Amino acid sequence: MKNHIINALTVDVEDYFQVSAFANNIDRQEWENCESRVEANTGKLLELFDRFGYKATFFILGWVAERYPQIVRTIHEKGHEVACHGYSHQLIYNQTPEEFTAETVKAKKILEDIIQEPVLGYRAASYSITQKSLWALDILAESGFTYDSSIFPVHHDRYGIPGSEDKPHQLTTPAGHKLVEFPISTKSYFGYRLPVGGGGYFRIYPYAFSRMALNSINTKLRQPFVFYLHPWEVDPNQPKIDANWFSRFRHYNNLHKCESRLKKLLQDFQFSTVKEVLTKLGYGDKINKQAESKSDNYVVHQLGVK
Ligand SMILES: [Zn+2]
Repeated sequence: MKNHIINALTVDVEDYFQVSAFANNIDRQEWENCESRVEANTGKLLELFDRFGYKATFFILGWVAERYPQIVRTIHEKGHEVACHGYSHQLIYNQTPEEFTAETVKAKKILEDIIQEPVLGYRAASYSITQKSLWALDILAESGFTYDSSIFPVHHDRYGIPGSEDKPHQLTTPAGHKLVEFPISTKSYFGYRLPVGGGGYFRIYPYAFSRMALNSINTKLRQPFVFYLHPWEVDPNQPKIDANWFSRFRHYNNLHKCESRLKKLLQDFQFSTVKEVLTKLGYGDKINKQAESKSDNYVVHQLGVK
């Protein structure tokens, strides 16, 4: 029997050539010339979620939304939550606050212009909100986001804030704004936090291990987890990119097993959007109240009043 706790199902919508592992191999200028597979792969995930009757949150890259607005429209029309994955998949700590502000506002506006509703949630490229880039939380709050799901409470070469809060909570940004944070899920073993929330970890671990770890978050900690996946992870036939062995391992490992594991996961656990899960945890007012006041701004913005 499924546990009654409802977990957050999330997808970071980007193409296989936009990932951080290949950032040194493919220049952003070349993205336009790559064969795009994001539409078909997102469609595959939408079909799968439909089959199980689950709604998910799709953190969509602005670059993708701009070129394929129909993906955003379909996600929204099917009743899923549209959220933001930035514009160009740059790591935040490699950007200046000015660059980050410009990108973030641009990406949010692209999505809101398509769905005609405020976008509440944000997830950073490669979870790149770290100790070095906490200032980004101020910019997210000031741009009208009410929740973030970017902080990975682990040690990693590219991301992570080791020792940070591992459950959904409301945080105060450096400038004093409030933002609800849903950290990427981890499971503690002997004091060591192991990432178990999806993506490459879901492909590396045997499914039985992921299930056990995620299940214990639900049953022992009595907390929802957040699971994340990318459309390219259900596409074992994607064009192969020549990169160093470690990047290739991270990207290609067990791609052919991912879809069948995902089906098992959808069978074994209950899921909904981040918005719904945070609302059930009592954060509804916090994520929607601010959004209401921001939606006034949004209307003003639509009227062309700056
Ligand atoms: Zn990403």
